[in-house]
Amino acid sequence: MRIVLVEQSRVGLKIMSTMLRQRGHEVYEFRDGEEAIKYIEADEFVELVITSFESLTISGLQVCWEARLLAGESRALYVIAMSSTYDGHSLERALDSGADDFIAKPPNDQELHARLRAAERLLAAQRKLIRLANRDPLTDLLNRRAFLEKAAAARDRAIEMKMPLSAIIVDIDHFKRVNDTYGHDVGDDVIRTVAQELNNCSSVVGRLGGEEFGIILEWQTPEEGFEVIDRLRKVIAGLEFDTALEPIRVTVSAGIASGPITESIRTLLKRADLALYSSKQNGRNRVTAFDSIEATIEPGSTDAGTVAA
Ligand code: GH3
Ligand code: MG
Ligand code: MG
Repeated sequence: MRIVLVEQSRVGLKIMSTMLRQRGHEVYEFRDGEEAIKYIEADEFVELVITSFESLTISGLQVCWEARLLAGESRALYVIAMSSTYDGHSLERALDSGADDFIAKPPNDQELHARLRAAERLLAAQRKLIRLANRDPLTDLLNRRAFLEKAAAARDRAIEMKMPLSAIIVDIDHFKRVNDTYGHDVGDDVIRTVAQELNNCSSVVGRLGGEEFGIILEWQTPEEGFEVIDRLRKVIAGLEFDTALEPIRVTVSAGIASGPITESIRTLLKRADLALYSSKQNGRNRVTAFDSIEATIEPGSTDAGTVAA
């Protein structure tokens, strides 16, 4: 497990990190609770925090609390508080501050590892639940709700960092025909394969419904974003799918909206949706930028929409 260890004393830190490393754990040592929290925030692979009540800057209880806030509902994170005062009062304070467990300091090697095994069991269950709640079972992409959540966070990040962002909606063309002619299983196979291709271009890719996908591209300029999605469109058009009747190909249409990112993510996605509609109207198997059709859209029509409803 990747573990963040917070302990004010250098000696204590060394003893414990050695104990943990001997059992194969990857340990990041901190004497300063505030620095530890910053690290946990930046490294999503940290799964366990062990914090002494004493740290430089903020208290260990505050570390528990901040770590708990970071975990929220979308990250599996287990927090163990430790104190040299091992009594009911300290235990109560630790658990009430968001710790999952409480151990005496210095911990006994056998006890520590038994507790870590229990933590691992709980983390595995938590990871499974988070996955079930956020992923679409057919494609393993983010589901609609998780996508919209991540998209909104990406948009906030883009504003903060003053970086560009594009919202894209992709829809498989004439997909009903695939199902009707070759069967639902072939349809599922097509959805899965298209999803896999799309998933390579960004960390925020979701299945919005049926054969429709949402993508958020961060850091790329609108022109680069357009290129990315147009390249994917061509890749998908070149794929061949086996069916009982004959090998088939499918195409996708897409719409892209690249701002201004001061607009809500809901508005950006609605604009991408309008651009997608234009791709469909103009013959499918193409990408349309919202900017290129903006003049043809009635004022106010992008304010309300079904995308993020
Ligand atoms: P267009 O080019 O205009 O997008 O036409 P289309 O036929 O792709 O659009 P339409 O929205 O009419 O059809 C989507 C179809 O996708 C209808 C639905 O039965 C099918 N579908 C939705 N979810 C799934 C799924 O999970 N698996 C399969 N195989 N089909 C699905
Ligand atoms: Mg379609
Ligand atoms: Mg559709």
